[in-house]
Amino acid sequence: MATIETLFKNARLRDGKVHDIAVDKGRIGSIVPAGSGGHAEAIVDIAGELLVPCFVEGHIHLDTSFFGDAWIPHKPCLNGFDVHERVAFQAENMAQAAAMDERARNQLDLCIANGALQMRSHVMVDGSVGLSSLETILRVREEYEGLIDIQLVAFPQSGILKSPGTPELMDEAIALGANLVGGLDPLSFDRDIKGHLDVVFGIAERRGVDVDIHLHDAGTLGAFTIEEICARTTALGMQGRVAISHAYGLGDLSSDAARKIAGLIATSGVSIMTNAPGSHNFPPVALLRSEGVVVFSGSDNIRDSWWPYGDGDMLRRAEIIGYRSGFYTDRELCAAFDVVTMGGAHALRLDGYGIEIGAKADFVTLAAAHVPEAVVSVPKGRRVFKAGRLVAENGSVVR
Ligand SMILES: [Zn+2]
Repeated sequence: MATIETLFKNARLRDGKVHDIAVDKGRIGSIVPAGSGGHAEAIVDIAGELLVPCFVEGHIHLDTSFFGDAWIPHKPCLNGFDVHERVAFQAENMAQAAAMDERARNQLDLCIANGALQMRSHVMVDGSVGLSSLETILRVREEYEGLIDIQLVAFPQSGILKSPGTPELMDEAIALGANLVGGLDPLSFDRDIKGHLDVVFGIAERRGVDVDIHLHDAGTLGAFTIEEICARTTALGMQGRVAISHAYGLGDLSSDAARKIAGLIATSGVSIMTNAPGSHNFPPVALLRSEGVVVFSGSDNIRDSWWPYGDGDMLRRAEIIGYRSGFYTDRELCAAFDVVTMGGAHALRLDGYGIEIGAKADFVTLAAAHVPEAVVSVPKGRRVFKAGRLVAENGSVVR
């Protein structure tokens, strides 16, 4: 029998049993009862802790966080929440902040240390910043190769039609290395749903990339936009390749109306990202999942011009989602966990994700007996492994 490269001994899996996991060339080669793992060049003792797949940080903004920089006090909007006003505050704050690459590294280290090794980040591409933010984040992504896999979304923070030159810039962004095309409130921001979605889906079709659209619009305005996005997705045969981030409007609908639109979202293969933020209504996670919709999550903003919260911990995010959704049973707590793991893997179309033979050895150890306990206790002191290599321990990245 060939010698195993690394044997992860005494790892508790979701079935509650303790196993030995063999890893060769960065992938899981076998999973056997503890003590029967065979000979290995290196042994890592998990000591009975829970071993779970890495977290999927499915929605973050690497360009706009001030994490690790000076504290910037939050400035409220003058007359209630207004996206335009917040974008203006953001421009003021960004001009005073530390260099973007430094702030992006701070945020990446935070996420990796918490066990997120798969990420989707939106990066501002519009008439105000052009492609400069994307160029910076692309360089940082290269530096972090081998530590975390990052998908970048060309995000039109100032609208597509309202910000001259943005359609061309978004197209160039894809040529430069962005992986997805983004969007922002086609109705309330650009006030032209057809014009906005023509650009987004036009680029997606021409460049063969996936779509992830920010949609904050409430109630029927949001629901109408979701129906339009679903129709475009189906017409282009893009099922499984389109996400709607936030989709607050789903949280405003009656349960009958929500169930009806959930059916449409599921058959269109559109996934829904929620971070269950603050006092907002947010999508009904259990209802969506019961209708077959893929629900995933992310930190979204971490200490930026939008809000002062965020700790880059997707397990904490699972707790927040469960708490705000009124999840109490083990089955419900597992659903919250699924949103930050498998849900993200489906939405991001990740290959080789999970604790199974042949999957990438990207995993996290948690001091918990099982997943429901992990969701409510959010244990720290984690060890994080990428392709079987230790990349973070006790809250710090190991280089
Ligand atoms: Zn966002």
